[in-house]
Amino acid sequence: MKTEHLINELQSHGLRLTDPKAGVASRRGGAGPSDHKAVTIDSMTVMVPVHTAPAFESPYVAEMPDDDGISRIRRSGIDLGTISFPKRPRFYDLTTKDGIPYPKIAVLHGRDVLATTVLQTCIRYQSRTKTCQFCAIGQSLAAGRTIERKTPAQLAEVAKAAVELDGVKHMVMTTGTPPGRDRGAAILAESAAAIKAAVDLPIQGQCEPPDDDAWFARMHDAGVDTLGMHLEAVTPAVRARIMPGKASVPLSRYFDAFAAAVPVFGRGQVSTYILAGLGDTAAAILDTSERLIDLGVYPFVVPFVPISGTPLESHPAPSAAFMDSILRPLAAMLLRADLLATNIKAGCGKCGACSALSTYERRLPA
Ligand code: SF4
Repeated sequence: MKTEHLINELQSHGLRLTDPKAGVASRRGGAGPSDHKAVTIDSMTVMVPVHTAPAFESPYVAEMPDDDGISRIRRSGIDLGTISFPKRPRFYDLTTKDGIPYPKIAVLHGRDVLATTVLQTCIRYQSRTKTCQFCAIGQSLAAGRTIERKTPAQLAEVAKAAVELDGVKHMVMTTGTPPGRDRGAAILAESAAAIKAAVDLPIQGQCEPPDDDAWFARMHDAGVDTLGMHLEAVTPAVRARIMPGKASVPLSRYFDAFAAAVPVFGRGQVSTYILAGLGDTAAAILDTSERLIDLGVYPFVVPFVPISGTPLESHPAPSAAFMDSILRPLAAMLLRADLLATNIKAGCGKCGACSALSTYERRLPA
């Protein structure tokens, strides 16, 4: 089976683990890839669901890993080859000067990405009528696995250790949306400035479009190298159903913000996350991607994965065939535009672990 197909299959069906303790302890709930584990397939590290309802019935089974973390993967008894589990990062054993365990401040994503949610609360998460239906930002906070507000000093301390001890290559800073009109741009800027003062690490900031486009230059000047503003869904009706609060920011504001941000951060250094499988057609996602690429924005299309404890926990993940129908033509469009994951300085598009998109890019002839 080709690597990109195996990644699509695993991200759709999930993976059953003979040894649930294999690899780095995974998170359950939270922002970003929750209920997942990082596995490396053909030198590409991807996030694969392991704690979701479909994963418990997945036809894909990983055997107990050997001492080097290498495990055989099978489907219906047929051997499909090996995968490996990244080792537990060394920075996880440390505690900040003010007494917080490092993994409550930031965690390892994929193979070499440090990821944090600077503010673990969100104006959109207060009521079930407004919350993004896929989001679990409050769950890891309620379970005590993280703290509400990571200070710039804590982030700088953890980032420095993650680079020095574990060779982390870039950092993703997302945030719940605070009440202010800057939508989180201010805390991303102050955090980036503190991190850059401590360690040389490329940083992606992720937030909703701020009220004032001047925030893009302020974030960039503070040390944010790349920016993510995430559409999540591309059709107005799907956005209104899946994220009733965030859909109050119309698509037109996102596109205006993209057009203002690209000259600041550079072509290909602004991106958006699109969750396939929530109701948008493949054609709608590809049409929107074409508009984004024309602006110089990288559309990072990932399969939606239902997270336990969210309103969408029983919503099916998209099929591998649906993902192939988007990612194959999308990779060709990106290649033609020379807007590739490998050229991104930091962030989800560069990491690529939540989608097979960058593997399609690698497979296409230049
Ligand atoms: S693509 Fe983004 S959210 Fe997914 S593992 Fe990588 S850094 Fe984390």
